[in-house]
Amino acid sequence: MTIITDLAQIKQLADQRQDDFAVMGYMLQREQMTDAELDALVDAIAAPIIAAIDCTGCANCCRVLDVYLTPDDAERLQPAVDVPLSQIIEHDAAAQVEEWGMFRARPCRFLRGTLCAVYPHRPETCRTYPALTPDFRWTIADSIAGAAVCPIIYNVLARMVDEAERLSRQSG
Ligand code: SF4
Ligand code: SF4
Repeated sequence: MTIITDLAQIKQLADQRQDDFAVMGYMLQREQMTDAELDALVDAIAAPIIAAIDCTGCANCCRVLDVYLTPDDAERLQPAVDVPLSQIIEHDAAAQVEEWGMFRARPCRFLRGTLCAVYPHRPETCRTYPALTPDFRWTIADSIAGAAVCPIIYNVLARMVDEAERLSRQSG
C-alpha cells in the first residue's frame, strides 16, 4: 500500500479526485451494509494509514483549520495559557452554536513548528480530528472537503474508492 504524505501532492491529488470521492460516497449510500459495518470497514482501512503517518511532522490541520472551543475545552485549556482566553477566541456567530468560541488565529497560536504547545490541554476538535468515524456514511462531505488538507483523510478516501468498487461488484 502506497501512502502519500507530501502536502502539495495531497492537495493536487485531492482536487483532481473530488469526482471519484463523490461517486464513492454515492455508491456507499446504496450499499446494504449498516452504518456500524461501514464504520468498521473505514476504521480497518484507516488504522494502518494512521499508524504510518506521523502527525507530529505534519500539523497541516493546525495551520489551516478552524478550531472550536466548548466551555469544557476552555476550562481544560485555561491553566495552560498565559493570557485570558477572551484574547484568544472569538464567538462564532456564523456557526450559530451558542457558547462556542473559535480560535482567532491561523495557524493556531499554540503551534510550535509542527508540535502543539498545549497538547494535554488541547480542545476536543483537535483530539478527534480527522474524525472519519463514526457516521462515515453521513459525514462523507466533510471528509471529502478535508482530503486536500489531511494526508490521513486523503489516503483513506483513496482506499475507499477501491472498496466501494469492490463492494459494488460483489453486490452485482
Ligand atoms: S491547540 Fe494544538 S492541536 Fe489544536 S490546533 Fe492548536 S496546535 Fe493544533
Ligand atoms: S490529522 Fe491530518 S493534517 Fe493533521 S497532522 Fe495528522 S495527518 Fe496532518
